[in-house]
Amino acid sequence: ARRVANETCMDARIDPAKALGLSDGDAHVIRNAGGRAHEALRSLVISQQLLGTREVVVIHHTDCGMLTFSDDELRVKVRVELGADASHIAFLPFKDLEQSVRQDVAYLRASPLIPEDVPIRGFVYDVRTGAVSEVGAEETATA
Ligand code: ZN
Repeated sequence: ARRVANETCMDARIDPAKALGLSDGDAHVIRNAGGRAHEALRSLVISQQLLGTREVVVIHHTDCGMLTFSDDELRVKVRVELGADASHIAFLPFKDLEQSVRQDVAYLRASPLIPEDVPIRGFVYDVRTGAVSEVGAEETATA
């Protein structure tokens, strides 16, 4: 069996196991808003060190709500709606889908908490077609 830890968005339109062709028992699925690695790291370490997964897959998706706001906008909304201060929370929104996948893969790759021999792959899931495409490493800048 593949021992995969799958980190993806909490969006209800995504079925991670189906998207990756995993059958029951193959994968841990760690979900949060946007499928961001910073928030998933705690669960990834538990998944790998205590429960034996040996591969990480990051999946972000088209039409994600994380593309639609900024940290400052949400902090203002929280202040207005709740009278509460969220200035200490990074909500981790993003403006570029593939770039956010690359950032999360790079973040995990650089983390000493993920073993160097664990493969980490990044994908974009298209919520309209169900297609999953791999996001390659950053191309060498030529500009
Ligand atoms: Zn999403």
